[in-house]
Amino acid sequence: MALDADGFPVTRTPAGVVRAARSARDLAVLDARVSGCRACPRLVAWREEVAQVKRASFRSEDYWGRPVPGLGPADARIAVVGLAPAAHGGNRTGRVFTGDRSGDWIFAALWRVGLANQPTSTHVGDGLELTDVRVAAAVRCAPPANAPTPEERDTCSPWLARELSLLSRLRVIVVLGGFGWTALWPVLGAAGYELPRPRPAFGHGVEVELTGPRGPLTLLGSFHVSQQNTFTGRLTEPMLDAVLARATELAATVPGARTHPDDGPPRA
Ligand code: SF4
Repeated sequence: MALDADGFPVTRTPAGVVRAARSARDLAVLDARVSGCRACPRLVAWREEVAQVKRASFRSEDYWGRPVPGLGPADARIAVVGLAPAAHGGNRTGRVFTGDRSGDWIFAALWRVGLANQPTSTHVGDGLELTDVRVAAAVRCAPPANAPTPEERDTCSPWLARELSLLSRLRVIVVLGGFGWTALWPVLGAAGYELPRPRPAFGHGVEVELTGPRGPLTLLGSFHVSQQNTFTGRLTEPMLDAVLARATELAATVPGARTHPDDGPPRA
């Protein structure tokens, strides 16, 4: 694959995304390929314009201005899937959910249930470490008005599909919001999971047990950690904590990885 000026492999078409994602041998390769993706012209233009114009309060910062890869270890038993990076959050910092109020919520909650070593995520290199959880977005580029099109969602889905398939111990997926819920079903169907029909409706606390090629997988729905939900009280900290606590409870049925930093080293 051709490399861009920063050394990331470039993908320019939906078919290229399929090929590049399927052939990524590990998360490091996948993350690099995600970071070089240019398959959605509208989103590429938007993310790069935002990175040039910037918000006044971040004027002195170099924006990432690229797709944002997932974060967390390959032995994670829990995945958290959100919508897409924020223009001045992940698109600025280069780390998923980092640099905006949504990230403040999710990382504080992960810390409260023992899945993160600190309650904040402010920038790459801030010392944050996740344990037993991988956080990712259904769409990797910041979209205008936080609204990717269905076509952009589908174009991006092979990245998520490959990411989930590389998590060999995956037992639970916490889905933040209805968009992620919708995006996930075809990904899981393509991965060989038997999907209930009709598809269960999204809702906070909704729990769906699936059976697939690697055994059981539970989907847990949670309202998204958007400001629209957290400012209005539609999503509260106890509500989010309860979903994540349930995820850790389910994950504990799979031996191997840690559920808390104090539990000792992970299995090699
Ligand atoms: S949204 Fe996904 S597929 Fe589209 S350009 Fe960004 S990373 Fe590539």
